[in-house]
Amino acid sequence: MGRMEDLAVLECERCPELRESRSRIVNGTGPADADVLFVGEAPGQQEDAEGEPFVGRSGDVLDEQLRVAGLDRDTVRITNCVRCRPPDNRDPTSEELEHCREYLEREIDLIDPEVIVTLGKVPAEHLLDRPVAVTKEVGSIEDARIAGASRRLLICVHPAATLYDRSQEEPFAEAIEKAAEIVGATDGGGQSRLGDF
Ligand code: URA
Repeated sequence: MGRMEDLAVLECERCPELRESRSRIVNGTGPADADVLFVGEAPGQQEDAEGEPFVGRSGDVLDEQLRVAGLDRDTVRITNCVRCRPPDNRDPTSEELEHCREYLEREIDLIDPEVIVTLGKVPAEHLLDRPVAVTKEVGSIEDARIAGASRRLLICVHPAATLYDRSQEEPFAEAIEKAAEIVGATDGGGQSRLGDF
């Protein structure tokens, strides 16, 4: 199997409730050699309908901030902790998170990103394995031990948080900017590496 095939889950029956609530499995999108990997919680209604992560209102907020930071959506990888839409948009249960963890770990392993940006509380706590106060810790970077490897993780608020709490707009923007700086992205010019100059 090639790398991209390894990244897509085509069939899964591990979560009885999600098997019923989903229309489809929503796999990650973006290049296999992306430097930034964004990890959200689970697909919402729009994502479930289209089969792509972050294509609803949260996705619009994320896209806009990526553009401002000079990070083109096409150059980053975007995925979720859980790949199937939970009923009534509830949070995924710890059991569902565990069922899907293998897929997420495989994706992290294959993408081997320079930085993982967690969008919201669920992915931050899932990958750091500790309670996270996202609004206090947004923008902080720490090493996470994931599938036996040390990964640089940047805590970010969920894009949807900026829609119902405008005070989250600035920390959200600053965290995305920080991710862009880590990978040497430049404003408007897509990704470029400082080392190339
Ligand atoms: N919220 C998420 O956490 N993930 C998505 O894909 C969409 C909205």
